Amino acid sequence: MTLYEKIAVLGPSAQYDTCGPKDFGQTTAIPGVYHAKVGGSHICRLFKVLQTNLCRHNCRYCAFRRDRDVRRATASPDEMARAFDSAWSRRLVEGLFLSSGIAGTPDQTMDRLIATAAILRNQYHYRGYLHLKVMPGASAAAISAAAELASRLSLNIESPTPESLADLSPDKDLKKGFFYTLSVIKQQLQKRRFAGKKIPSLTTQFVVGAGEETDRQIIIQTHQLYKSFGLKRVFYSAFRPVPQTPLANRPAESVTREHRLYQADFLLRFYRWQPWDIPLGQDGRLSALKDPKMIWAESHPQYFPVNLNHADYWQLLHVPGIGPRSAQKILSCRRQSCISSLTQLARQRFQIAKFSGFVSW
Ligand code: SF4
Repeated sequence: MTLYEKIAVLGPSAQYDTCGPKDFGQTTAIPGVYHAKVGGSHICRLFKVLQTNLCRHNCRYCAFRRDRDVRRATASPDEMARAFDSAWSRRLVEGLFLSSGIAGTPDQTMDRLIATAAILRNQYHYRGYLHLKVMPGASAAAISAAAELASRLSLNIESPTPESLADLSPDKDLKKGFFYTLSVIKQQLQKRRFAGKKIPSLTTQFVVGAGEETDRQIIIQTHQLYKSFGLKRVFYSAFRPVPQTPLANRPAESVTREHRLYQADFLLRFYRWQPWDIPLGQDGRLSALKDPKMIWAESHPQYFPVNLNHADYWQLLHVPGIGPRSAQKILSCRRQSCISSLTQLARQRFQIAKFSGFVSW
């Protein structure tokens, strides 16, 4: 196989991993190059690729599970670094997202990713965005080496409970595999912080809808991950069935569920909501019809109207249509003059239609 043929296999293979900057799918003709949102709003061309799509595991939903008959490829660290550098030096890509199937032990897999990253940083003097996947069960030494080179590390948790994970990925263990590895990552990042070194951010991903997990279980686990391990982001990926896997006939999960989980996640991260503040149905699921903040507001009429001239930042945040940025903007408007009408806010481009029924002034 030529290097181009390998990349043609390994680039599209990474599409299943959303545990990084938000990507918009394969949007260029170059295999593995995606437009992705990094750093909040900057859209960059990201080379998203697997070092190998060989895997010793047999996750029931995965295109690269051991038992699936699929074209396999492996790039050596030299080859992968060369492929990235050739695209980067021609300004075809701006960042690298490097993941891998688990071929051999977790550390053997990590060693190949780390070697690729080291070649890029030390021989090609690449200083840009570099996302490295951490394998469950990786040693402290491997994690420390990855943290030295990466802008971001990620470890995919996939499912929120030991039972649901055992069902989807029979060889994996939530406690010994994921939480133990997360605690090792946390220790290594703390060591770097004490030593005054740069700290890569840390993310994870849930596959949503491949099993019977509820949104409640996902939200509780997400909250725990943010609180206990200092994750920067949790990503949610709606399940899509892959032919010739045990879940080939399971219906695809709706993207609305994925979207609602992102809304709930936003409430946990930026609104200081606790998992029990987020309204869920009897079945433990978020409503498909309305966003969770609107449902909360409609079921707490005693909290409204919120006075735009007197409410503090956190009270303003409970109003549907007022997010962290608009709450700050309202506070700064108030410092200049009293808010005397919604028209005054409409002139400053506030989306007043959504919150007009929930506020007074
Ligand atoms: S560990 Fe599971 S999800 Fe990851 S590549 Fe292997 S089979 Fe797929």
